[in-house]
Amino acid sequence: MSDREAYGPALDDAVSLAGRWLGGVREESIPPTADVDQVKDGLGRELPDRGPGAPEVLRRMAEAIEPGLMRIGSPRFHGWVMGGVQPVSLGADWLVSAWDQNTGLRTVTPGVVAAEELAAAWLNDVLGLPTTAEVGFVTGATVASLVGLVAARDEVLRRAGWDAAAQGLAGGPRIRFLVGAERHGSVDSSGLVAGLGRGRVVEADDQGRMRADALRAALAEGSGPAIVCLQAGNIHSGAFDPLGELTDIAHEAGAWVHVDGAFGLWAAAAPGLRHLTSGLERADSWATDAHKTLNVPYDCGIAAVADAEALHRAVAQHAAYLASSADVADPADRVLELSRRARGLPVYATLAQLGRDGVAELVQQLADSAQVIADGIRAIPGAEVLNDVVYTQVCAAFGTDERTRAVGAALLAGGDALASPSVWHGRAVLRFSVSNWLTDAAEAGRTVAAVRRAVEAAG
Ligand SMILES: *Cc1c(COP(=O)(O)O)cnc(C)c1O
Repeated sequence: MSDREAYGPALDDAVSLAGRWLGGVREESIPPTADVDQVKDGLGRELPDRGPGAPEVLRRMAEAIEPGLMRIGSPRFHGWVMGGVQPVSLGADWLVSAWDQNTGLRTVTPGVVAAEELAAAWLNDVLGLPTTAEVGFVTGATVASLVGLVAARDEVLRRAGWDAAAQGLAGGPRIRFLVGAERHGSVDSSGLVAGLGRGRVVEADDQGRMRADALRAALAEGSGPAIVCLQAGNIHSGAFDPLGELTDIAHEAGAWVHVDGAFGLWAAAAPGLRHLTSGLERADSWATDAHKTLNVPYDCGIAAVADAEALHRAVAQHAAYLASSADVADPADRVLELSRRARGLPVYATLAQLGRDGVAELVQQLADSAQVIADGIRAIPGAEVLNDVVYTQVCAAFGTDERTRAVGAALLAGGDALASPSVWHGRAVLRFSVSNWLTDAAEAGRTVAAVRRAVEAAG
């Protein structure tokens, strides 16, 4: 049997099983029907002495696991902020697995490094980042923020005369880490791992945007090295911190500015939304996801740092056996990983297909669909939209907290649309996030119809 034939059955099965799953994503009920224990029972809990052939393993996986899958790819899935997957992105992702390139070094695999470097340059272009910003492909925005924050940490210490690489962190100057009141929880995790502690919380306005006067006051409380973490895209309101104004205030105090823009940074790609990110290019580092707004498969986060040297000093690996290129940065100089998949390739493929205009239209379509959902909910008696809908997020309440939770439960039970229950500014809310390329005005209208049915069911 040739090697091609050895792979054939597994790949053919994977293609047909994936096709069947993807074919049901738009119309089938969204929530999973099996829990973890039921899926384990279906898979079989015992490790066999020897198992069946690959096709049988894959078929059993599909049969047992699919009841336990959430149809995150549904155009009416609005939970959390999760994105979907575009055909070209999925195809590219499959090639990444088939090629199986260890993407740490230029000399080892020039092919995928070339595509990733083009994707990086194109990202700087569509996101309005400095053309010279250094881009690393990581697993998600949490790790992208970690990469940005370790670069920030070592650089603000270096400016204060402390060499973190030579001296470590203990005994060095204390770094002031300033974060917004409505930051994403991942900023806390990244800050903790980077050794910055939990951060001094800076007050936000009614939409969750960090307040300029509060940042100025917080910076004036002390002196010495500082890092300010701003946000582009609040998970409840979709609001953007006034990036330019806050960055200027932070820079006056000598602070490094990191922006968590996991899904919001993409507003910069759409002419009609770009004003939300005004001044973002003046920050020092940025974290975003390709697996949310751009709709490539997990896992694909993006860390960008304006000062390439600062990034390399903080994360690069050096060893004689790695034979890294002497003058040019390797992929492993930009992230906290050496061996990794070529996760930038789905980004390359998606940008290559959509082009600048296609990305702009995608982001605008998501924001327009959020408006359709917001307008539809406002028209339901007793329903309220609590946030200013400026981007892709809608926070709705349906009377008392108890009734809002009941509407959420009825929506989930209906299975036609899904929103995340949450609490915002002390009130129970249902959060609708639009982050899937399949969500358009028609699908947003179907979401509204499902919400109306849920409201009736909740009584
Ligand atoms: C999703 C999200 C993150 C975390 O991103 P991951 O890719 O899940 O690690 C961080 N910040 C915001 C605003 C997010 O929406």
